[in-house]
Amino acid sequence: MPVLGRWPNPLELLFPSLCVLCTAPLDGVKAVCTSCLETLLPTGLGSWLDKAAVREGLDKAWSAFWYDGTMQSLIHLLKYNGHRRVGKRISEAAFHQLEGEVPWGHFDVLVPVPLHRTTRRERGYNQSAVLARTLGELSGLPMNERLVLRHRWTRSQTGLSVQERRANVEGSFRAAGPGAGRRVLLVDDVLTTGATASACAQALKAVGFSEVVVLTVATPIKEK
Ligand SMILES: [Zn+2]
Repeated sequence: MPVLGRWPNPLELLFPSLCVLCTAPLDGVKAVCTSCLETLLPTGLGSWLDKAAVREGLDKAWSAFWYDGTMQSLIHLLKYNGHRRVGKRISEAAFHQLEGEVPWGHFDVLVPVPLHRTTRRERGYNQSAVLARTLGELSGLPMNERLVLRHRWTRSQTGLSVQERRANVEGSFRAAGPGAGRRVLLVDDVLTTGATASACAQALKAVGFSEVVVLTVATPIKEK
């Protein structure tokens, strides 16, 4: 997979009707062809919070697909190559994968895990908000991008141990209250140890949200 910085692949701009993964004609769908999407492997984990290394503040966790090579390429395109439409496609797939499992009507609001404002400015958007917006359109739940703020910049969690990940993000989020007992479905691209989602959830609980469940498009938990 060629990596061309955070700008869209020029080939994709010239030929927007080709799949970003296999370059097959898209035939009416956006960004990723149906055959490529069908190769994504559902986790079938159900609610898997008990397997997450860091869980404080979280009540449940759902992850639609395994973070395999294909998913890794798609998330990379979404985060670093400006392909927002890839985000829309993978969150649609995640919604349909988890549709019968997640009690959407139980929640009051969808909240994307925020980026620090510096990262958001550099990237131009928050990839988790792209995912949450699509999940909101499909589920009918409102999405609120301003309920949680990442007030401290933190280094990437990649390559850190569980303890280092926990320490890296601890206290880096602040939530806007009052939560008034509302129930949050927190949305992120990948759940690895749970450290980031947990720090976010603790900030939400601190201002009175009663329940915080995290939903991610993918998890690599199987490989650990
Ligand atoms: Zn394809």
